[in-house]
Amino acid sequence: MLFKKLLFTLLFIQLFFIGFSQTAFDETKLSKFKNEGLLHSDAIKMLNEFTDVYGQRLTGSREYLGAAKWTANKMNEIGLTNVHFENYCKDCRGWTVKSFNVEMTAPNYMHIMAYPLAMTKSTNGVVEGEIVSVESTSDLNVVKERYTGKLKGKIILWGTLPKARPLSDPLSKRFSEAELKSMEDKLSPSVKQTPLPEQLEEWKISDHKENAFLEFVEKEGALAVLKTQPMFAGSLNVSGTYNFLETDPKSLPFFAIMPEHFGRLFRMLQQKVTPKIKLDLQTDFYLEPENNVNIIGEITGSDPTLKSETVLIGGHFDSWHSGTGATDNGVSCITLMEALRILKQSGITPKRTIRIGLWGGEEQAFIGSVAYATEHYGKLKEKPNSESKKVQAYLNLDNGAGAIRGIYLQGNELTRPIFKEIFSPVASLGVNTITIENTLSTDHETFDHYNIPSFQFIQDHLSYETINHHTHLDLPEYVPENDMMKNAVILAWTIYSLAEKNTMVPRKSKD
Ligand SMILES: [Zn+2]
Repeated sequence: MLFKKLLFTLLFIQLFFIGFSQTAFDETKLSKFKNEGLLHSDAIKMLNEFTDVYGQRLTGSREYLGAAKWTANKMNEIGLTNVHFENYCKDCRGWTVKSFNVEMTAPNYMHIMAYPLAMTKSTNGVVEGEIVSVESTSDLNVVKERYTGKLKGKIILWGTLPKARPLSDPLSKRFSEAELKSMEDKLSPSVKQTPLPEQLEEWKISDHKENAFLEFVEKEGALAVLKTQPMFAGSLNVSGTYNFLETDPKSLPFFAIMPEHFGRLFRMLQQKVTPKIKLDLQTDFYLEPENNVNIIGEITGSDPTLKSETVLIGGHFDSWHSGTGATDNGVSCITLMEALRILKQSGITPKRTIRIGLWGGEEQAFIGSVAYATEHYGKLKEKPNSESKKVQAYLNLDNGAGAIRGIYLQGNELTRPIFKEIFSPVASLGVNTITIENTLSTDHETFDHYNIPSFQFIQDHLSYETINHHTHLDLPEYVPENDMMKNAVILAWTIYSLAEKNTMVPRKSKD
């Protein structure tokens, strides 16, 4: 009895001191992170230089490589080691806009807000032609029947009048407590993940769905195609057909125009008035495989055994070309780097290695992250290799510029207690929600396919879907500095906690 009592007392004292020393230790670390990230932040300064000076980062482009070189230098400056590039595509070509102009010249003058879609050819100098409306239909035979012999010298207005978004809807939104609670309350994911190889095949087809139409109208002698994608007032969405391989076709001049200007041209045709358009486009194609690089860096682990294991973090580096990719996905690249800067400045020597990967070609179906995973963790359709088992977790950031509110468990219920414990000390920064839900369409799906515990964070939407996503307004004006600073601290804390953890994060499937 006495012995039992003594044992119990000793155990209690031991637990008390373990608990106490652990908490005190963690608090010191967290306050260091907050001090560095909230009071001495470098985040917005880095983002402004990255986006304003280096500009767009279209996959394959020279601008992409320019920004990649700046980023590698910045990683070295921060104190990361093993900073290097890994090539992800030998035949992804580059394309750059040199100049363009689109104007309506009749029945009166209007300058048209336009931007060329990626991988379109130059015009033969300044060209001018009448507008003809062609409805978009999935059946090309219908188009051929109706328009053969009628398109020579014409400018095509492709599609129908876009539906205006109600002005009463808020442009920028944060998650409400009720919305977060309903995410947390979900018992199983309601969004289904398509197996990665299937998904990549589907994208190969959808990437080229407009090519047959473009080829037909070019053969018929059309000068250019104008289309619009409904966003909020004045936004030019330039995503879509993207012939990024050297073997892909190059389309005739093809522009996204502002929904309101599309509307004016479309309505005039309905009123039997035919507008005339004058336009000019000069672009440059090149094949420079050296532009196609993932950017890698690390904080090497300090524990003799655990340093061979990694906490992998990342997000896509490429962007669309009409803005500077500030919210998609520049802000995430810079916030991840800022998190690592915080760790280095706080004098952290993590047990496990922390590795950052900034991927190219995400907008072209994850080609950068898939190339990295194939190289390091085995072929896409084979069993993941032993190296994949040494990855503690992959954290991806690619949901715009909004504050982090929690995490998507991606169907891995076993990891809930881990994130509960990690988030509890940073709950006051607004991170409270853990949902079993899947989230799709970015690079964490690549690593998830390799059975690596892979996660995306829940972030406030702000104006991501209404104004910025893939538009010419994807600019740093829409990145709130406070959100960026808080996110960097939350990330530093999460990454550090995973790197120090005594056990591995449980995988979705056992083998
Ligand atoms: Zn993105």
